[in-house]
Amino acid sequence: MLYIKAPAKINLTLDVLYKRPDHYHEVDMIMTTIDLSDRIGLEARQDGVIKIISADRFVPSDERNFAYQAAKLVQDTYKIKEGVSITIDKEIPIAAGLAGGSSDAAATLRGLNELWNLNLTIDELAELGAQIGSDVPFCVYGGTARATGHGEKIEELPTPPNCWIVLAKPKIGVSTADVYGGLRLDGVVHPNTAKAIEAIDNKDYEALCKSLGNVLENVTLKLHPEVSMIKEQMYRLGADAVLMSGSGPTVFGLVDSEARTARIYNGLRGFCDEVYTVRLLGERNTLA
Ligand code: ATP
Repeated sequence: MLYIKAPAKINLTLDVLYKRPDHYHEVDMIMTTIDLSDRIGLEARQDGVIKIISADRFVPSDERNFAYQAAKLVQDTYKIKEGVSITIDKEIPIAAGLAGGSSDAAATLRGLNELWNLNLTIDELAELGAQIGSDVPFCVYGGTARATGHGEKIEELPTPPNCWIVLAKPKIGVSTADVYGGLRLDGVVHPNTAKAIEAIDNKDYEALCKSLGNVLENVTLKLHPEVSMIKEQMYRLGADAVLMSGSGPTVFGLVDSEARTARIYNGLRGFCDEVYTVRLLGERNTLA
């Protein structure tokens, strides 16, 4: 069995510039991988079948699964006769704004490149990934990057200043499509992406804290007021900056002290059923 790590991402910024005639949104976002990961296991099979195995009952076991779609796309594109059993051990919460499904697809692409001896470059894998979902190309590369276009244009960034990250997810799943559907761009406050990049380049933690922003946050807050309550609690417990990731509902707080991180984690645990303390994953992916 070939195992590949599929890390979650958070958005340090998420901006939507306009809606395109092809119905995609033109986005500009800074994403970074964190050390909360699913584990993908790949085992070749001779019967040509793609089989998804997961103990998590919320993980689709058919063609709705992004890892399945990744394997099917590779099979069809490169006329592969072999099949694969894909075991997905979930640790990333589902429908949380952490790109769990996209990361599983990206890890499957990287793993199949090795299992089926495809010899594709990481750029070619990212191009395939864009056909599955807008966050998949970023997940193929990992590390920290600015993603533009509909998410498929990736520009590598340095690792952000070192800090702890507390994640809290209320007991709701959010549909990304519903949140984008509810977004009205008139009067929206756009994050200052250039400032956030400058803060990352300068490893300036305080400046980074001041430049976080997500245009989808207010849409999700209106749909799910519990997300606001978690944000308030995180600030009250001492986080330096707090933001919703992706379309939510997961909220993350940045903290530069281990003692405060423990206080926030413990304070939130009575209040919210899924809470994690994680670190940034600095390195970019190499091919599996
Ligand atoms: P993003 O941040 O990219 O918008 P998300 O983290 O909010 O994504 P996912 O965890 O990827 O959301 O789940 C969204 C939906 O995708 C789920 O409702 C689930 O049915 C479906 N899905 C497909 N493949 C997977 C997978 N491998 N793991 C989890 N969910 C999957």
